[in-house]
Amino acid sequence: MADYSLWSVVRNGLTGNKSWKPAWRKAAPKASYDVIIVGGGGHGLATAYYLAREHGITNVALVERGLIGQGNVGRNTTIVRSNYLLPENWRFYEWSLKLWEGLSQDLNYNVMFSQRGVLNLAHTPSQLDQYAQRGNAMRLGSIDAELFDRDDVARLCPGIDLSPDARFPIEGGLFQPRGGTARHDAVAWGYAHAADRMGVDIVENCEVIGFIWDGDAIAGVETSRGEIRAPKVGVAVAGMTSEVMRKAGVENLPIESHILQAFASEPVKPLIDTVVTFGAGHMYVSQSDKGGLVFGGNLDYYNSYAQRGNLPTVQEVAAELLAVFPNAGRLKLLRSWGGVMDMSMDGSPIIATGPLPGLFLNCGWCYGGFKATPGSGWCFAWTIAHDEPHARNAAFTLERFHAGTVIDEKGAGAAPRLH
Ligand SMILES: Cc1cc2nc3c(=O)[nH]c(=O)nc-3n(C[C@H](O)[C@H](O)[C@H](O)COP(=O)(O)OP(=O)(O)OC[C@H]3O[C@@H](n4cnc5c(N)ncnc54)[C@H](O)[C@@H]3O)c2cc1C
Repeated sequence: MADYSLWSVVRNGLTGNKSWKPAWRKAAPKASYDVIIVGGGGHGLATAYYLAREHGITNVALVERGLIGQGNVGRNTTIVRSNYLLPENWRFYEWSLKLWEGLSQDLNYNVMFSQRGVLNLAHTPSQLDQYAQRGNAMRLGSIDAELFDRDDVARLCPGIDLSPDARFPIEGGLFQPRGGTARHDAVAWGYAHAADRMGVDIVENCEVIGFIWDGDAIAGVETSRGEIRAPKVGVAVAGMTSEVMRKAGVENLPIESHILQAFASEPVKPLIDTVVTFGAGHMYVSQSDKGGLVFGGNLDYYNSYAQRGNLPTVQEVAAELLAVFPNAGRLKLLRSWGGVMDMSMDGSPIIATGPLPGLFLNCGWCYGGFKATPGSGWCFAWTIAHDEPHARNAAFTLERFHAGTVIDEKGAGAAPRLH
């Protein structure tokens, strides 16, 4: 498998670009492996990669029901940050952010990680106080955080409406300079390329339709391409978690599937060179390298497995964008799409052994799982390799919902659509 380098770009450019190899093989499934990972999204691919790189476990099959990147990893608004309040969360997300910072070099694949900063706008003095509390918690964890007043916001975002008679006047904000965006499908392709290069079989168009049992333990998967056996099976299927786990007889997970939409405007000249989030509702926007404003907001507020949403949410999110950037009202909306979110009951993820012998579970990413991709894959690989969680994901258990030790960053209670 070819490495990507300046030399290979020049050589291929001079020879008609005819000798590029596919970024990963179209592997056919073998009868058995050491580990099977179900789900070829960012988390499954990253897990396969770190199993090979960190633990030397290369006899791995990653099975994906469709094509790599067609799930949420290729549908998100690409925001990466670690600006959390609770230590369980900032420890994990900061580790993930550190992995992002070296990811293109690690993978030998440009994931276009752009640390353009993430600015959370505050619209009331009490909201600014809350941001100060969160920023202080981050700084105690050696994470970059700056409390902004209105002048700082004006300096960073000249296009923003800072007038006192705005519908939701802006008081200031919390800024994380190391946050930013990445090219989402390059992340999927980069992990697939790097994992494949180390011997992982990436098996596309291979849907898991059941599990193979050895007594009480899971011993493999039944797929649309036949049976595949392995003593360890990791499930990382995001919005399809409940459905896949039901095939293993696991019902009533603390997960609901909801729709989240995103939108892209027609391209314009540079207008927003950071990520901005609206604090009087829920909206986040950045400008892509092509010039389009990429933005999203709340869930559609009903359970569904459809990868599309409805018009009331389009209206709500667009109105929130215009409340902050009124000049965006002159833009045409080019595209919208949706993804299926695995919303957990406390808004925090699950990366754990079980809930059955031989089975490992990675889910509950709500709509913040893209930024978690490297950290999640790293921790899930560790958990699978060692049969126990790493300290970084030790809190993200399934049992916490029985024990009541939830990690409720927003204090919203067991209401997934509010996280
Ligand atoms: C519109 C939108 C905006 C978002 N914005 C952000 C953001 O800005 N920042 C952020 O951090 N997060 C964001 N997210 C969330 C983030 O994209 C997800 O949390 C994350 O991608 C989920 O992990 P994944 O990549 O592994 O999921 P996926 O890419 O969905 O991977 C799961 C895979 O499992 C496969 N699968 C399902 N069932 C089976 C089966 N039976 N057999 C085999 N394979 C199966 C699916 O086909 C899919 O490819 C957003 C999500 C959406 C939809």
